[in-house]
Amino acid sequence: MKVKQLPIHLFPSKSLTKRCTQVKRDYAVLELVAKLRKTLKETKGKGLGIAACQVGILKRVFIHGDKVFINPVLMQKKGAERRGYESCLSLPNIEGRVNRHQKIVVEYYDENWDKHVEKLRKFDAIIFQHELDHLNGKIITQHFDKKDSDIARSLMQLLSDGHTPLDLTYDTCYQHGGTIFKSK
Ligand SMILES: [Zn+2]
Repeated sequence: MKVKQLPIHLFPSKSLTKRCTQVKRDYAVLELVAKLRKTLKETKGKGLGIAACQVGILKRVFIHGDKVFINPVLMQKKGAERRGYESCLSLPNIEGRVNRHQKIVVEYYDENWDKHVEKLRKFDAIIFQHELDHLNGKIITQHFDKKDSDIARSLMQLLSDGHTPLDLTYDTCYQHGGTIFKSK
């Protein structure tokens, strides 16, 4: 199957704020998965996972590396939450601290409609929660504390004003009187 990558929707795209719908078995999920894989690959390592709504398709599907999660459900959260920096393909150059459970039990279907119940830990657990948030119309900035939100706000304003990720650099932000964000 020859597939093209899809453009990634950036904040403030409406696709990022809607609750995605369950995928039915007759849906052409293989095609969607192939497109998501191609799109993620083209980020050249910038993105570790991508949800269907990030390419404008409001279905409950995301991928993390080679793994496909269809109609994923977070069944159990275990242990304490931990705060860690996260970023998102739809919010270029924005990062902030998010609380996530480090151990979770999840249920999902793969692209062959085999059902999986799995324990995920640490990084895998964090990515699952990040992507599941996307399927529920939630983005990382909604988890940020006041300090990180203040830093993110000026960058989000630039994105709203139509700046593309390429010209969204430290300098652009500075020229626009934006708050200086955490340098990498
Ligand atoms: Zn994201």
